Amino acid sequence: MKAEQILRAAAGGERAIDRIDTRARFGEADAIQLNRMFRGTDTVEMLTTVLKEQLAGDVAVVSSFGAESAVLLHLVASIDPSIPVLFLDTGKHFPETLAYRDLLAGRLGLTDLRNLTPDAAALAKRDETGLRWSYDPDGCCAIRKVQPLAAALAGFDASITGRKAFQAATRANLPRFEIDNSDAHGRLKINPLVTWKPDDIAAYIAEHDLPAHPLVAEGYPSIGCSPCTVKVAAGEDPRAGRWRGWSKTECGIHVPGAAPGGIGDLPPDFDPVF
Ligand code: SF4
Repeated sequence: MKAEQILRAAAGGERAIDRIDTRARFGEADAIQLNRMFRGTDTVEMLTTVLKEQLAGDVAVVSSFGAESAVLLHLVASIDPSIPVLFLDTGKHFPETLAYRDLLAGRLGLTDLRNLTPDAAALAKRDETGLRWSYDPDGCCAIRKVQPLAAALAGFDASITGRKAFQAATRANLPRFEIDNSDAHGRLKINPLVTWKPDDIAAYIAEHDLPAHPLVAEGYPSIGCSPCTVKVAAGEDPRAGRWRGWSKTECGIHVPGAAPGGIGDLPPDFDPVF
C-alpha cells in the first residue's frame, strides 16, 4: 500500500483492503499531510491513531534510554509493547545507562528490545584502540551509531524519536512528522514529544511513577556515551554537556544520500536522529 492510500483511508475516504503484503513509503507531501491531519491533536491520541491504524506502516522506536526516554517508551508501550525498540549499544555507554535500559524494559514490558552493536570488522579497522571519539567523534558516531541504525531501519517504514524542541536550538523547529532523508526509502520520522516542555515531561513521569535515569540526579540532563557526556551547569542548554568543546551537537545521525558503508563520506550537514 502506498502512503497516499493509507492517509486517504485514515481520512475516511477509500478504504484499504489489504495492509499486510505492502510497505508504506513516504514523501514530503505525506509528512505535510500528516502534520495537518494531527494539528492540535493530543499526543496520546495522535500516537494511538498512527500506531493502531498503521498509518506509518512498520514502525520502530529509537531510544537512547537517556534522561527522558521513559516518557516516550511508556507512551508507546501503553499502546503496543511489542513495537520494536532500537537501542544503539555503542560499547561506550555509562554502566548506569545499560542498567537503566534493562530496568525500564522490564518495567514497561517491552517485548522487542533490539540492541544494535557496531560491526566488529568496522571497529577493528577504524577504531582499533577505541579512542576514535577523542579525535574524530563524527567518525566514531558513524561506526557506532549511524551504520548500525541505518542497517536496522532499512526494515522499517517509520521511526519514532523522543526529540523535543526545547532541548536545543538545533531542534527548535522540528515538526511532528518529517521524512528521513538518509536513504531513498522514504521513511517517515515521527517526533511525538516535539511540543512537550520540561514541565510536561516532569508531570508525565510523576503521574506514571516512571523511574529516573540515575545520572540525572548527578547533573546530567542529557546522557549519551560516557566519553562524550559531561555535567551541565544550571541555566545551560540541556545538551551543552554533549561533545563539550566540539562543534558537534547531535549524535546518531542520518546522512542524506550517503551510503552507510564508510566514515570518510559524511557531509557536514548531517541530519540528527536523536
Ligand atoms: S557519542 Fe562519542 S563515544 Fe558515542 S559513538 Fe559518538 S563519538 Fe563515539
